[in-house]
Amino acid sequence: MLAMNYRGPQRIRLDRDKPMPEIQHPQDAIVRVTRSCICGSDLHLYNGNVPDTRVGETFGHEFIGVVEEIGPDVHKLKVGDQVIVPFNIACGQCVFCKQELYGNCHEANPQATAVGGIFGYSHIAGGYNGGQAEYARVPYADVGPTVIPSDMHPDDAVLLTDVVPTGYQAAEMGGIQKGDTVAVFGAGPVGIMAAKSAWLFGAGRVIVFDQEEYRLDFVRKFAQCEAYNFRSIEDPVVFMKKTTDSLGADVCIDAVGAEAAGSAMQTFTGRKTLMQAGSATALQWAINSAKKGGIVSIVGVYGPTLNLVPIGNAMNKGLTIRGNQASVKRLLPKMIEHVQSGIFSPREMITHHFPLEEVSDAYRIFSDKLDNCIKPVLIP
Ligand code: NAD
Ligand code: ZN
Repeated sequence: MLAMNYRGPQRIRLDRDKPMPEIQHPQDAIVRVTRSCICGSDLHLYNGNVPDTRVGETFGHEFIGVVEEIGPDVHKLKVGDQVIVPFNIACGQCVFCKQELYGNCHEANPQATAVGGIFGYSHIAGGYNGGQAEYARVPYADVGPTVIPSDMHPDDAVLLTDVVPTGYQAAEMGGIQKGDTVAVFGAGPVGIMAAKSAWLFGAGRVIVFDQEEYRLDFVRKFAQCEAYNFRSIEDPVVFMKKTTDSLGADVCIDAVGAEAAGSAMQTFTGRKTLMQAGSATALQWAINSAKKGGIVSIVGVYGPTLNLVPIGNAMNKGLTIRGNQASVKRLLPKMIEHVQSGIFSPREMITHHFPLEEVSDAYRIFSDKLDNCIKPVLIP
């Protein structure tokens, strides 16, 4: 089959004869992928910043498709069903799944101390093959995959695998109270959905920071919020103080992650990888812009450790810091409702459709923010 193939940092190739996935466990299903996005999270892999990413791996954790085959212990799905596949692989039974922490499933990734299982996200997330391919093996098929409502556009459905629930959970973890000022760092698909979601929790003001004018234009319209280019203002921290009578934002959301982290990441192997340089990180800005007693919600992805986090400021301000991988299965029913009722129209974020054969160009265009790309979808 055709599949995306990682050759090393910023080297993506199309594999024309990757072996077809097979049922390996009675609870597996094989899904023929019909749409598969590239995510900001894939860029951490693409840039070589995720430990234990191996040459030959196929990425892709945001996909929908048609069930082609099921194992003998799959009872809720049948062959031919069109399904949304959450990016988290979750057993549904372990102590974490029982608390609906599906992003932290123990069974799907028993070696890890932090993250659960994720499709196509290196060996730190379980070493599963991803869905930027014609077919994917989906473990615990009765747990995560959800049949796509017949009236739902596939471009909306594919965004429910990750960025819609992630943005929503970013706002939810912020514990937004009525009238709160919410600052969102990052106007990628995750930040855009966080800004949109913040209003649903009662925000009184939503302010987004990014450096890409086309994304700022988009988020202003899509999420009816204020949006500023952090390269054209003095400094987001100073800006937030000035605009809130020196108080700061009630809630700050980091929807950037490692991209702007100008510090060293200690990998699991003890090797240090220098992250892409940046004068200040979104997380530093989030902590320093937050009001005393405020909440910082982190959905941006970082390596296991990160230097230069102003943890003293966080302590002295009495901040609450929360973060996690989104618990997609927990949020899916609500996200489906929001799409069906028109509250969310996530497919407006999709700017590009590429045939899977063009996966290498798709990564380059998304990574380099070319051609006003916000969210690219691969179609096998
Ligand atoms: P993206 O790469 O499309 O967007 C990131 C945006 O941040 C870009 O527009 C970039 O210009 C902007 N940016 C860079 N440095 C900045 C800074 N210092 N301040 C403000 N903006 C800055 O990525 P995305 O798909 O929107 O994902 C965003 C983050 O969320 C990534 O780290 C990704 O790994 C993470 N993520 C987490 C989860 C989860 O479950 N927690 C799920 C999906 C994605
Ligand atoms: Zn993703």
